[in-house]
Amino acid sequence: MKPFIDAGEIWGYIHQTPATKERVREVIAKSLDKHRLTLEETAVLINACDTELVEEIKQGAKALKEKVYGQRIVLFAPLYVGNLCINNCAYCGYQASNKKMKRVTLTNEDLIEQVKALEDTGQKRLILVYGEHPRYNAEFIADTVRTVYSVKSGPGEIRRVNINAAPLDIDGFRTVKDAKIGTYQVFQETYHEETYAKVHLSGVKRNYEWRLTALDRAQEAGIDDVGIGALFGLYDWRFEVMGLVRHTNHFEACYNVGPHTISFPRIQYASALNINKDHLVSDAEFTRLVAILRLAVPYTGLILTARETSAIRDEILQFGVSQIDGGTNIEIGGYSAKKDNEHQDIDLEQFQINDNRSLNEIMDELIQHKYIPSFCTSCYRAGRTGEHFMEFSVPGFIKRFCQPNAMLTLAEYLEDYAPAETKEKGYKLLDEKLVEMDEDGFKEKLVEKLKLVKEGKRDLYF
Ligand code: SF4
Ligand code: SF4
Repeated sequence: MKPFIDAGEIWGYIHQTPATKERVREVIAKSLDKHRLTLEETAVLINACDTELVEEIKQGAKALKEKVYGQRIVLFAPLYVGNLCINNCAYCGYQASNKKMKRVTLTNEDLIEQVKALEDTGQKRLILVYGEHPRYNAEFIADTVRTVYSVKSGPGEIRRVNINAAPLDIDGFRTVKDAKIGTYQVFQETYHEETYAKVHLSGVKRNYEWRLTALDRAQEAGIDDVGIGALFGLYDWRFEVMGLVRHTNHFEACYNVGPHTISFPRIQYASALNINKDHLVSDAEFTRLVAILRLAVPYTGLILTARETSAIRDEILQFGVSQIDGGTNIEIGGYSAKKDNEHQDIDLEQFQINDNRSLNEIMDELIQHKYIPSFCTSCYRAGRTGEHFMEFSVPGFIKRFCQPNAMLTLAEYLEDYAPAETKEKGYKLLDEKLVEMDEDGFKEKLVEKLKLVKEGKRDLYF
């Protein structure tokens, strides 16, 4: 495959694209019309540094988010399955040369215990995370996915399992697809090839192209639900944003479907890390880049993880994030009852998390801010594929599907897992949202379904 990232081209756009007030406004208007931006248009937003224009970009992202995603925020939890790794990535605690790191791979029983613990808090969507190691081959990944789907604890079940693992070959991707995975995520970490070579010191991951083309192989294998990402702080954030947009338009051109999600983890507290600190991203730059990504790719879900503090997460949520993790514990085996977030074992973690709130604390806060926390997985199970394209392109999709489904999954949570105080606040929010809805047959059906949830029926959706 012809390499589709051309550093000269990206820098050319960044250095040669002026950001006049008129042009910035035109670009924001195009995005609000729900059109993906070109590289040149993304560069216009990147080059708009004036405070007033930055504010307009943020407000544009906020308006687009409300238009495309409504008030629902989808929640998930990461589950680390194993931290064996043959690579040496300079920014990661799991690197093979880190002899202090305890190496653990969950047994089947351990995995079941972790999933039960997650289900008992109300989680319905997981992302399984693995180091890169021959032991974590496609069969192993597929087996763990099947195990997770089979675990039921009380009313709890996992309805969607996403994967964050090493690139596979086409046959390998077919094997994991057969286990009914949701999204397969492979983050490029940095799109800048020279920097990539500097931070990937040894191991298979040193091969920039094998990683860059990973999700093309996934597409060849029939997995059209893929997640891309960059680790901000390794190289200039402007280049990485352009790289993510270039990766997106590559997918659109070749497969007629963009990435399902974009992630943008950020390196913080890098003092102990063996990396160049010149490119660490400040909070202000981070907020800006999230708003630019929101405008550049209106139809793709943006994921913000618990690496960020609760304050930053609350702030950035408004500028376009549609999914967050909640109640996260990245210590391997950390979800079972005997462990908790306050006592994390750093010798079992890949990086530090900074939002230690429990799932219920996050639910509570979202409700307080009038967001509808959602565990919805209805599209995958109802066979509505290309969900984000749908919600983006079909008028009324959010009103007809996302919001009512978010309300139903919230009601399930309130019935099965919420403490009394959250339950009261949650039902108050549901009542308010019902009042805001048009009086039509659809609202009636939702009221009926909500009643059924109260009576004990589960997994109802539109
Ligand atoms: Fe291994 Fe992934 Fe960490 Fe690199 S980032 S050392 S591949 S676990
Ligand atoms: Fe996602 Fe579809 Fe549910 Fe909307 S209805 S939240 S697009 S699964």
